[in-house]
Amino acid sequence: MPDNFKAIYVSKTDAGQAVEIKQLTDADFPASADDNVTVAVEYSTVNYKDGLALTGKSPIIRSYPMAPGIDLAGTVTASADPKFKPGDKVLVNGYGLGENHWGGYAQRARLPGKFLVPLPKAFSAAQAMAIGTGGYTAMLCVLALEKQGVRPDQGEILVTGAAGGVGSVAIALLAKLGFRIVASTGRLDEAGYLKDLGATEVMDRAGLSGPAKALGKERWAGVVDAVGSTTLANAIAQTKYEGAVAACGLAQGADLPVSVMPFILRGVKLIGVDSVMAPMAARLEAWTRLARDLDPAKLALIGGRTIPLAAVPRAAQDILDGKIRGRVVVDVNA
Ligand code: NDP
Repeated sequence: MPDNFKAIYVSKTDAGQAVEIKQLTDADFPASADDNVTVAVEYSTVNYKDGLALTGKSPIIRSYPMAPGIDLAGTVTASADPKFKPGDKVLVNGYGLGENHWGGYAQRARLPGKFLVPLPKAFSAAQAMAIGTGGYTAMLCVLALEKQGVRPDQGEILVTGAAGGVGSVAIALLAKLGFRIVASTGRLDEAGYLKDLGATEVMDRAGLSGPAKALGKERWAGVVDAVGSTTLANAIAQTKYEGAVAACGLAQGADLPVSVMPFILRGVKLIGVDSVMAPMAARLEAWTRLARDLDPAKLALIGGRTIPLAAVPRAAQDILDGKIRGRVVVDVNA
């Protein structure tokens, strides 16, 4: 293996952050006794959080210099962890990658073995990154609804931020499981795409973005929300008796101007979903279910675009501007 590898390298300057593509060597890795596995990275991806990190819009990066990228998939090349050996295919989501630990926008990564998920046989490294944190979080949301007893015969599921990464994968998964899905989007021109993924109805997100009443007409058996703010408040106010809402995102805002009425009069359950520090058992359950329930043809629709490392900074801005449909795969060797 050559000593050099290419990475996106973010350093802190007086003006903010400087982002460049740099040739690095193993000596550049931050020293950490926990990093006992080396991975030849093949693919990464662009999540909303990567957008926030690379643009510096939110303080996602906690230590500098940083090779960002919250996801990676590749092949183990060296391991002092007995659970992994050279040649093993692996993926990593979150665990602080791209925040306080070097991440996936690099041709090489050094990581603690406890971060690694064996790549499910159903997926190539590129497919795993077409799913990435966005798709794995969508699966966690669907599992959260299932654990609250939400079933297809109870009524419609609302998916917000539908044309984005979390929303697209959630629709494909819920359709496979037999749910009727209402996709809320600001991009009505993507209605064909959303229906191809399995949405039964597409609604304009403007219908959910105004101030929420304490209680609305009961409509949703369950909700997957990637948006937060008044959209989440409206979704909660319209959730049926004993329905459940899985909240994972803040694309509209981090506030939640909601009444307690849906909780105390309808027993609505609001379930928070975190992917970053989710325990390994939850990750393995999610990836096993993704392998079972995510239709490869729909995954190809969602993650059909692959970009090189050099195009990541532009894609980071695009995702914050709501211009990315589904998910984008990053070929770190291109
Ligand atoms: P994307 O940008 O791919 O999707 C977000 C979607 O939200 C957009 O495509 C858009 O959908 C919608 N949206 C954007 N701005 C607004 C707005 N102002 N009002 C209403 N809707 C809006 O991001 P991801 O799918 O990667 O992530 C979605 C959210 O989930 C992010 O906030 C992210 O931080 C969070 N997240 C949280 C995780 C966790 O562990 N809890 C893990 C992964 C993601 P459309 O065009 O269809 O309207």
